[in-house]
Amino acid sequence: MVVASGAPSAAPRTRVVIIGAGQAGLSVAYYLRRFGLVPGSDFVVVDRGPSTGGAWQFRWRALRLGTAHKVNDLPGLADLGLSFDTADRSVPARDIVSDYYDRYERYYDLRVRRPVEVRRVDESSDGDLVVELAHTSGSSSPAETETLTTEIVVNATGTWGSPFRPYYPGRDDFAGRQLTTAEYVSADEFAGQDVVVVGGGTSAIGFLLELERAGATTTWATRRPVEWFDQQELGVEMGLAAVGEQDEAAKRGLALPSIVSGTGVPMTRRNRAGIDRGVLVDRPMFASIEKDGVRWGDGSFAPADAIIWATGFRPELRHLAPLGLRSAEGGVAVERGVSTVDRRVFFAGYGPQASTIGANRAGRVIARQVLLALSRSR
Ligand code: FAD
Repeated sequence: MVVASGAPSAAPRTRVVIIGAGQAGLSVAYYLRRFGLVPGSDFVVVDRGPSTGGAWQFRWRALRLGTAHKVNDLPGLADLGLSFDTADRSVPARDIVSDYYDRYERYYDLRVRRPVEVRRVDESSDGDLVVELAHTSGSSSPAETETLTTEIVVNATGTWGSPFRPYYPGRDDFAGRQLTTAEYVSADEFAGQDVVVVGGGTSAIGFLLELERAGATTTWATRRPVEWFDQQELGVEMGLAAVGEQDEAAKRGLALPSIVSGTGVPMTRRNRAGIDRGVLVDRPMFASIEKDGVRWGDGSFAPADAIIWATGFRPELRHLAPLGLRSAEGGVAVERGVSTVDRRVFFAGYGPQASTIGANRAGRVIARQVLLALSRSR
């Protein structure tokens, strides 16, 4: 199956490579297996993470499954007697998700290869897709590399590895610590400090409440005024509208819009109480960053030991660059999970599928199309 680097499509090949074993990649793998493809030979799943859990394995310790964060069950998870709905809410979400995914991969014998990073996907002279892999064991020695040739690639790489940090003047002069959501571990690190949290989504809100408990003084800055919505009345409607916006952008090959700008954030009891205490009160974005704080256009200043950028993520697609899928508008054109430029390249968990429920649906839809594509190629 796996061939030495430098050997192009004459080498043994697999039929499908799935890049990423988060909710999206696992869901595709589950359906491919269910439709008769053999894991490890007909299709190969690779993931660069050290362990099971997709991006969830890296989320901060305080994050719990509950009202703000809900993970939908992977297809077939019930056969293992498991459901995220009944998981222990006192245990960090990252531990639960890693554990359940681990059991799932073993139960369905999905044979995920990790830690294996896809560095590059290209096309060989005879029309195969060539996937360059690096074994990233974490040691300082150079990564061992291999090449795999395949008919189809399913990209399910999520966004966690590509946090977005907007530019503000003075960013490089700041003397304190700047970190993104992906680097946030625990509020305890900020006890007694002044912290500016940037971003209008659920992550920012979670950080603010946690920082308050840890004894930090916080300032909250958002690009747009936060739109609170009543959970019962508007949640579903706004969720659908946000998915619609993502779908439209994906089809047109545009850069994907922010999910939060489409959904707003829910006015839970916990958030209401946070507003009443004055912790969840957002200010507009500051105009510049100084050595020891941030300054607004009106001259007001907030001191800061740290700035946490909870400003979202972008899809991780660098390794696909040689295929030239990017549109002039900055996105990739994807319809029903397949590139409209190259129909051998699928995107699971992209745009409208970027939630655990969306990733589940993507699994079935994409696996069906992959099967159809394979049947045509023989
Ligand atoms: P991921 O879980 O990110 O999996 C992608 C995998 O691809 C990773 O394991 C990574 O190691 C691997 N990978 C990436 N690049 C490469 C490469 N080049 N080579 C090999 N492997 C690679 N959604 C919900 O439904 N409910 C929630 O509560 C929720 N909370 C969220 C909280 C935060 C802070 C964030 C950022 C997102 C949240 N989401 C939530 C959305 C979430 O992203 C999806 O729900 C889902 O977990 C994403 O699954 P995925 O498989 O697309 O991506």
